Amino acid sequence: MQRQDAPAPAIDYTRVFTQAIDRLHAEGRYRVFIDILRNKGMFPNARCFAGHNGPKPITVWCSNDYLAMGQHPKVIAAMEEALHDVGAGSGGTRNIGGNTHYHIDLERELADLHGKENALLFTSGYVSNEATLATLAKVMPGCIIYSDELNHASMIAGIRNSGCEKRVWRHNDVAHLEELLAADDPSVPKLIAFESVYSMDADIAPIAEICDLADKYNALTYLDEVHAVGMYGPRGGGISDREGLADRLTIIEGTLGKAFGVMGGYIAADQVIIDVIRSYAPGFIFTTSLSPVLVAGALASVRHLKASSEEREGQQAAAATLKQLMADAGLPVLPSTTHIVPLMVGDPVKAKKISDILLAEYGVYVQPINYPTVPRGTERLRFTPGPSHTEAMMRELVDALGEIWGRLELRKAA
Ligand SMILES: *Cc1c(COP(=O)(O)O)cnc(C)c1O
Repeated sequence: MQRQDAPAPAIDYTRVFTQAIDRLHAEGRYRVFIDILRNKGMFPNARCFAGHNGPKPITVWCSNDYLAMGQHPKVIAAMEEALHDVGAGSGGTRNIGGNTHYHIDLERELADLHGKENALLFTSGYVSNEATLATLAKVMPGCIIYSDELNHASMIAGIRNSGCEKRVWRHNDVAHLEELLAADDPSVPKLIAFESVYSMDADIAPIAEICDLADKYNALTYLDEVHAVGMYGPRGGGISDREGLADRLTIIEGTLGKAFGVMGGYIAADQVIIDVIRSYAPGFIFTTSLSPVLVAGALASVRHLKASSEEREGQQAAAATLKQLMADAGLPVLPSTTHIVPLMVGDPVKAKKISDILLAEYGVYVQPINYPTVPRGTERLRFTPGPSHTEAMMRELVDALGEIWGRLELRKAA
């Protein structure tokens, strides 16, 4: 082998990284994270550490802890008890030392919530989607996955990592889905992956019609109920619970980090499917299991919301009031039947500007939502009022928005 005397050409790595960041600034979508602490028992009040004069009181309008369960006394008590009983971490993967009794109890509770034989916990909803979809398609050679075009990044990652064929259907368009299903070989395995509540547009999938197509074309179904678990249905089992459709879905996926207020993700399905994912999914196998403290909190939260609809009803009422107040004020709120209140801006720089003014001048915290979370040109502010946002808070918010809309000469609703 010849010795190489010439030095390798210099690569300016720092410049490459700086340019990547500069592109975000140029598009107005460089992300700034707000430094906050929530005040336990006083949701949606929090403290913001943005300035130099110590923390400033703010009202949180963009939390996915929709029902304030992250501060519920039962959840806090369960976590404290677990911490003092068994300590902080699980100590291992599920296979090696980390399979605690808390995990098993919670999986039973989640299986029951969705009327499935079993459930499986993951460290997050993202991981549950990525790991399950990637593994399922690998276990079924030749499988085709049909994916709604607005599916969450975690589902897209799983589908991509599976290496399988994929077909993307127009958002909630069952006719298009059927066209794609009909065009493929009837003998290959098929999986339809979609969400119940789409959290950015606040609309709901036609689950029954999609299940009809799954029956007709002999496909499996995978439903992400992340924004619906805890929130819909008599026991908080999601839209599939509300509509009595859980038994028609092959796999239901959810998070413990949004309405349940803690952290973690899961799937619920037949025992054999749970066994396959448990046995084959790297994202499940090769990682330390959730802290028993988190699992205990989630368990208390799931149990509470199975029995109590008060939080759900309060949340729905708050969302309806805020949508009405915004519409009355001529603000371009997206009409929806869900708990999410998207206010359309259509420009990343303006969305950021509105958010900055709200925080600096009004103590209102709502994050701008930009590409790639939503398509370019549909930038928005996404409000998630909950049972503890009062009507007085909402009126103040809408007055502030009205003033800013006028100041920045923004487009009003038609
Ligand atoms: C937030 C979200 C996830 C990921 O859940 P995490 O528990 O936050 O990782 C998955 N799917 C959808 C639709 C989501 O919005």
